[in-house]
Amino acid sequence: MRYIEPHAHMVSRTTDDYEKLITAGCEAVCEPAFWAGFDRASVEGFRDYYLQLTEYEPARAAKFGLPHYTWICLNPKEAEDLALAKDVLDIIPEFLDKPNVLGVGEIGLNKNSRNELEVLERHIEIAANRDELILVHTPHLEDKRKGTKLIIDALLNNPKVRPERVIIDHVEEHTIQLAMDKGFWAGMTLYPESKCTPARAVDMLELYGTNRIWMNCACDWGISDPLAVPKAIVEMRRRGHDQNVIDKVVYQNPHSFMSQCPKFQL
Ligand SMILES: [Zn+2]
Repeated sequence: MRYIEPHAHMVSRTTDDYEKLITAGCEAVCEPAFWAGFDRASVEGFRDYYLQLTEYEPARAAKFGLPHYTWICLNPKEAEDLALAKDVLDIIPEFLDKPNVLGVGEIGLNKNSRNELEVLERHIEIAANRDELILVHTPHLEDKRKGTKLIIDALLNNPKVRPERVIIDHVEEHTIQLAMDKGFWAGMTLYPESKCTPARAVDMLELYGTNRIWMNCACDWGISDPLAVPKAIVEMRRRGHDQNVIDKVVYQNPHSFMSQCPKFQL
């Protein structure tokens, strides 16, 4: 069955995972910029990473016939050093013009600190001034609800931000309504441990409907599953969901959201 993987950190995965994705029916993979597992020491470290996302990784995916798109930003985990953050923000616009870049992401908050919030606001400003799509990372566990509220306030404080062009990712039962009520899109991240399981995601679909929502695996170098979305498809089938409804959630919805960027072409 066809689907789009809208959030996967393929730089941290092996070629076996590309094979798994295409075998399972994946028709495009989208990779937000994220933390590398260690703090990069200089702006040049970020430049190399953005080159990897915009040049090397799409070429690697192309060997498997898989279109690869990406999002560029400085991850909130690396926002504490404001001087470095400023240097990195200065080089972001040149990468936003690259042909596989869909917008600014995944921006957001990690520990909800003051510096993180400042860097988040700068990202929102860059995105809003260029009318870029925005992909938002929300914090983990106990910081999630408060962080999601702070992020939504920061987004709505910028009059140029259009909620239909923003996806709030990693929503869970206690944050999904916050995102959807304000007209944003919501992303559910399926993880074997933290975040959300396929069964919980399908529960949320049944409660909140299938408009402006997608599912992703967010696979990276941690415990995560590149086949989480196909497993959620199996769960939807098991519960008797119609094939067209499943296709809407796993293919048409991510397609509609990302097609707001004219560079997204399948
Ligand atoms: Zn991510």
